[in-house]
Amino acid sequence: KVDHDHEVDHRLIVQENKYYAKSSRINYYDLVIESAHDATLVDADGNEYIDLLASASAINVGHTNEKVVQAIQEQAEKLIHYTPAYFHHRPGQQLAERLAKLVPGAEKQVAFSNSGSEANDAIIKFARAYTGRPYIVSFMDSYHGSTYGSMTLSGVSLNMARKMGPLLPGVVHVPYPDLYRRYENETEHDVALRYFDEFKQPFESFLPADEVACVLIEPIQGDGGIRKAPEEFMQLVYDFCHQNGILFAVDEINQGMGRTGKMWSYQQFKDIEPDLMSVGKSLASGMPLSATIGKKEIMQSLDSPAHVFTTAGNPICCAASMATLDVLEEEQLMDRSNVEGAYAEERFLEMQKHYPEIGDVRMYGLDGGIELVKDRQTKTPDPDFANKVIYYAFQHGVVMITLKGNILRFQPPLVITHDELDKALNVLDDAFAAAENNQVIIPSNEKIGW
Ligand code: PMP
Repeated sequence: KVDHDHEVDHRLIVQENKYYAKSSRINYYDLVIESAHDATLVDADGNEYIDLLASASAINVGHTNEKVVQAIQEQAEKLIHYTPAYFHHRPGQQLAERLAKLVPGAEKQVAFSNSGSEANDAIIKFARAYTGRPYIVSFMDSYHGSTYGSMTLSGVSLNMARKMGPLLPGVVHVPYPDLYRRYENETEHDVALRYFDEFKQPFESFLPADEVACVLIEPIQGDGGIRKAPEEFMQLVYDFCHQNGILFAVDEINQGMGRTGKMWSYQQFKDIEPDLMSVGKSLASGMPLSATIGKKEIMQSLDSPAHVFTTAGNPICCAASMATLDVLEEEQLMDRSNVEGAYAEERFLEMQKHYPEIGDVRMYGLDGGIELVKDRQTKTPDPDFANKVIYYAFQHGVVMITLKGNILRFQPPLVITHDELDKALNVLDDAFAAAENNQVIIPSNEKIGW
């Protein structure tokens, strides 16, 4: 059990809460991260934790990865910043070429931004400019960011965007397939068809297909609970887009960069080539860099400097990204993600046999959502149980968070060792038992979760 000497933590947190705007935080438990390496976090009191969150999937190659740190240091000594809007710099040019070639199919071009949110804003810009059409279709429960554009795209934005409307006009949300909460006797095929019908509904009433610029989808929803759309649904939507001159865009910010055992999560589906795609988070191991990658003719449709940010494509971030991609390849982290992910899945399925609260186990490589419910029949979400599990885990040296309140987000850095993974899974096993036996008491001054 971690010895929580909160003297240091609390002082820092009180100070932070005094000056740190609430809107920029989602509170979990009191944890001040002082340093980190690989899959390990070290708090202000020197306690160590296994990171099952990889800083929101931003650190796939491990915290303070040696090669990434070295690349950052070397680049910082040469050139910290020159805006690539005006002159070229080598890291930006090299990275653009590498990313364009990392997405198979037609020739691609790359536009850099600072955050995932901006990379999704760029999808709106390019899709509208190329097609000359105003509307964008995205999915309920999706998360695409918190700029006005990406917040509007987000299906979870209803709560988030309170007091900030009106949002961007022209975005229509359709339901994302839910394989877990399906009707009795429905097969995956039935679910795919039912949701495709739902998808088409707006097009059959108020939304002329020839006014829709693009459909944006997370091939595997991240904040929506780590869930994968059925293969057949994806193919139907993809074909529908092609038949109607609608661009097909994917958000790979959370699920890309090797997380699911493939470079991009859309590659979990057969024969799909996105017209546009956004990538961020792990792209530069947490350095502020994102990219919109798209087919060349689409990317060339915006010929005014309409997506320029002073620091987007900063040379240090680009150098960090090149090193990150090197590590992903050299250390074969996608293979690791598959192998260790399969092991974790096996362990969770075993736990599911013992703990009735584990309603659903979804794992795609080292990318997991463990859904906790009050009753397996009604599938009523159980956020209290989830909070107890993550609080127990935190007390025993394992850090994770929940999605939608009741889904454990399981996204360790892909470099996590087998022993660390085992240790973390043992702690979670104990956590389920302790939560079930009412042995977890969350102090009243700790606010857990959303
Ligand atoms: N898209 C997805 C799928 C995400 O998970 C996130 C971040 N959680 C974003 C976009 C937004 O990225 P950023 O926070 O870097 O703006």
